[in-house]
Amino acid sequence: MQIADRIGKIAESQSLAMAARAKAMKAAGVDVINMSLGEPDFDTPAHIRRAAQAAIDNGWSHYGPVAGVDSLREAIAAFSNQSGQTCISYQAGDAVVSVGAKMAIYNAIQAAVNAGEEVIIPMPSWVSYSQMVKLSGGRVVPVQTRYEDAYCMTAEQLRAALTEKTRMVILCSPNNPTGSVYTRAQMQALVEVLREWPRVMVLSDEIYNRISYDSLEFRGESLEEASPTMAIFPEIADRLVIINGVSKAYAMTGYRIGWMLCKDRAFVGACTRLQGQQLTCATMVAQAAAEAALRGPQDCVAQMREAFARRRELICRLAAEIPGWKFRKPQGAFYLFPDVSAIGSGDEVAERLLEEAHVAVVSGSAFGCPECIRLSYAISEEEITEAMRRIKR
Ligand code: PMP
Repeated sequence: MQIADRIGKIAESQSLAMAARAKAMKAAGVDVINMSLGEPDFDTPAHIRRAAQAAIDNGWSHYGPVAGVDSLREAIAAFSNQSGQTCISYQAGDAVVSVGAKMAIYNAIQAAVNAGEEVIIPMPSWVSYSQMVKLSGGRVVPVQTRYEDAYCMTAEQLRAALTEKTRMVILCSPNNPTGSVYTRAQMQALVEVLREWPRVMVLSDEIYNRISYDSLEFRGESLEEASPTMAIFPEIADRLVIINGVSKAYAMTGYRIGWMLCKDRAFVGACTRLQGQQLTCATMVAQAAAEAALRGPQDCVAQMREAFARRRELICRLAAEIPGWKFRKPQGAFYLFPDVSAIGSGDEVAERLLEEAHVAVVSGSAFGCPECIRLSYAISEEEITEAMRRIKR
């Protein structure tokens, strides 16, 4: 059968492919430790699961509004505004709920980017942005960030990448795959450059903003300040799209609920129209669960963050013992991103780790950084210890 040209252009998600290989090996009886997937290993908190069950029992089995259930959109706006650092005040009508942050990002790129327009993406980056830009007919303008800059794009790099054709800049902080977190000052410097480019939209993927570690002790800022949101810059409010969701903070990856927030109602309308034609609405039961997550007690988030923080200490300590690895201590998310080029390419090392050590990791080539590999430490401390022992051996 014919496959359309636009699909031929896009790559398979390497992290999903690696996870599938690890799963297949496991099914065949091989004891594989899977560090390839960006997914918390915790169960979804009980009060959230109960809300999903109640939604089923209460007949949430019909189509809902395209942009999401009103009370969830209200909760999203309220949640965003209460973070203690948001300057832009969001309302329910600024939110569009989608099937995961992934689809919210896809919608925003489809709704914003014309064929031939440029999208600036700091590299290394999450696997899907570039492919989504390609699907829109846009052109990816990669900006190679440096190890010395903690893999954050500088104002000079942004300035050099901007052209009359630039339509969008994609930021992701805390970052997948590097674990870097932009400081407020670093963000401010980017915003100063963007002031000169009023046509350029900013898509800020903040899916990991509740999972950030170096707060009080290193920065003298409050915990929420530890990972600033771009919503602290009202000067770009009319061209800022904030992306977030419940997958990472509440261990709800399989529920598939994410969203975008934007003050430009015409843009919100465009995303809603697109979604109406391809999705109708996100799963209603999952929307009820997401609302319970946002409105309910938040100590589950802190508990999971503390567990991730302990795992981060552990993996960094063990990784420091591996000869030939060079890495920065991640400040957010749950990934370690060592440069393994002293040993081999990321592809080679990832392949050998799977085949010989039975540890599944993702090659940095998937993220535009072929010297590195990405290890997810969203697994138990025992598994981390055993995986690092195997890798070292
Ligand atoms: N953005 C980033 C940076 C991610 O790492 C992920 C998940 N791996 C997503 C977005 C998508 O998250 P979801 O679709 O589960 O909400």
